[in-house]
Order: sequence, then C-alpha cells, then structure tokens
Amino acid sequence: MKYVDEFRDGALARNLAHSLAAAVDPARTYSFMEFCGGHTHALARYGVVDLLPASVRMVHGPGCPVCVLPIGRIDLAIGLALERGVILCTYGDVMRVPASGGLSLLRARARGADIRMVYSPADALQLARTHPQRDVVFLAIGFETTTPPSALVLRQAAREGLKNFSVLCCHVLTPSAITHILESPEVAQYGTLALDGFVGPAHVSIVIGSAPYEPFASAWHKPVVISGFEPLDMMQSILMLVRQVNDGRAEVENQFTRAVNREGNRAAQAVMAEVFELRDSFEWRGLGEVAHSALKIRPAFAAFDAEQRYALQYRAVPDHKQCECGAILRGVRQPTDCKLFGTVCTPENPMGSCMVSSEGSCAAHYTYGRWRDIPVVAA
Ligand code: SF4
Repeated sequence: MKYVDEFRDGALARNLAHSLAAAVDPARTYSFMEFCGGHTHALARYGVVDLLPASVRMVHGPGCPVCVLPIGRIDLAIGLALERGVILCTYGDVMRVPASGGLSLLRARARGADIRMVYSPADALQLARTHPQRDVVFLAIGFETTTPPSALVLRQAAREGLKNFSVLCCHVLTPSAITHILESPEVAQYGTLALDGFVGPAHVSIVIGSAPYEPFASAWHKPVVISGFEPLDMMQSILMLVRQVNDGRAEVENQFTRAVNREGNRAAQAVMAEVFELRDSFEWRGLGEVAHSALKIRPAFAAFDAEQRYALQYRAVPDHKQCECGAILRGVRQPTDCKLFGTVCTPENPMGSCMVSSEGSCAAHYTYGRWRDIPVVAA
C-alpha cells in the first residue's frame, strides 16, 4: 500500500539502525519523549525500541487522549446517561475507562443506561435527528485531531436548530501539555526526568501545523521532530533528533512532510476557532489542573453545550491508589513499575486508563513487550 509498505521495509530499517548506531555519541545518553500515544503504540508494535542504540531512551508522553481523560469527566457522562436519561454517545475506547464506584460507561450501560459507541460525532448528530423525542449528548474527547469534527457537528446542529443535541466538550491541547511537562518539577527543578527532545505528534500536527512547536526549540532549547506513524518514520525522526543534539541545535524539523506543513489545516483551525474558546483550566489525568490546556464551547453555541444545558458541576476524583497512570503520563514511571501491571490490571480488566486504549503505554507494553519484563527461570 502506497505510503505504508515503503515505510515498513526491513532492509531500510536495518540501514537506519546502522546510521543511528554510528550517529550516537558514545560519551552520552539520549532521552526523547514521544508525546503521542500513536507513537507509543508504533514503538511497541514494530519493535522499534529494539533497533535503537542502548544509549537512546524513549519516554512515553501524555498524548493518549483516552488516558488523560480524568475520572470526573467520565462520571459526568455516566450521570447524564443514568440520571438524566439521555442517549450518551462517544468513541469506543472511552467506553471501558474506569470511573467512580467501579463503573465505566460500559458498566453503566449494563445497568440500563442508553450509552452508544459511535465512529464520529456525525453519527451522534444523526441519532439526534432520528430520535427527536430523546436528548442526545456526544462526549467529545481528544486532542486537536478530533476537535474539528466536533466543531462541525456543533455548527451543523445550530444551523438546523436541533433542540435535542449537545456536546460534553473534553477536548485538550497538545502545546499546553508539552509546556506543562517542561515546567514540571521533575524536568525543571529536580532534573529527575531528562528530556533531550520531543517526537512531535503526527495527526495533531496535520491540523495545527509545525509552527506551535517553535517556542519549545527557541525558548526551551528542545529539538522537536514531527514524525509519521510508520516504523521507518519513527527511526528517521529519532535519528534527526540525535543529530540535532550532537550538533547542539534545537529546531523544529518535520519528518512527516507528506502530511504536515508549517501552517496546518487552516479550514479546520477556522471552524475550531468559530465554535470553541480556551478554558481557564482543565484537569488532566496524571498532570492535574493545567491552565489554558483545553477548549470549551463558545457562548454563541451555549444551547448545544451539555455542561450548561444540564448545569453540570465538575468534581475531581482521585485515581485508584495503586495505579501509576499519573506518573506514567508525566514520563517519570514505566508501566512495569506498577504493582498491578499484568496481574490485576490487563487490557481485559483495566484498572487505569493507560491499559484501555491501544495507544495507552500500559496496553502497548502489555500487548507487545510484557515478556521482556518477566525474569527467565531456568528449567
Ligand atoms: S498497569 Fe493498570 S493500574 Fe498500573 S498504571 Fe497501568 S493502567 Fe494503571
């Protein structure tokens, strides 16, 4: 398949592995954060980590949209479905994220709530059209990638004057999360999390372009390389990061030139700006409250804002005491540091959000690499 097969070529991967081995400075180590959960998944799935020199360490970032959704937000959605009788629609991965009281959206559905998995917000809008006697709420999650479709359905609902459709907006922003990581005590104060650069997200960057990452290079002196999702994309991006570090450069480079440019998708940005505005603050799972890191629905579309329509009051809820998702999402722990990993917590029975989506660090680690962490016992 064009743009896929040629980025999975084994001979080219070996060449890139040799180039990486030759490029690294034996006198130092390298630590790069892949922000995006899709990259975490690709690193694990294709065994890219095994092809990297031992001195190159990849740190998983908070870019899995399902993982960073805090319990309190899922509780709001469950409350709407169980207590207000709405048809609650959302993406499939969100259905299994643990919420309060042992519930998840899936378990709430088993209790009789009308909760439906949809492939896009347009499906939820169509449900509202076909069920005019029922209130339909779309639980909108994700980074800048999934925000434009949410904006489009809100604008469409307003144009049609729908009275039974609203959106519970939980969209979050990538650059704010990277800033938060760089300002975290582990990076900025104690130096316990060394970061030499970032692998920039692919799909998010198609929407926002490469320009929003420029302050990380100019002000923070951190190289950023925007990368595609295929294994060769990732290896080439890591090589580009190594070369920047060796040269003492900090620039935004774009490896994913077949899809990303500096400006991004102007039409998508315009519809996002028309419908959404910045929130003062938003709770992220693992990162806590992060200023100006999420979007809310503009007053002009207030009739379609589920938070206003149902006068929802947000209540923060702590994670399971033994779950290390928070530390994993901040890059300071690995999945295997968690006592529950692979025993109590598995993809079939997730105790925390990082084990739910295939983009979650724990799920990727469990699915593709758990055997590495089990000590071999001689027969
Ligand atoms: S293994 Fe499960 S409980 Fe532990 S950090 Fe990961 S998601 Fe949380």
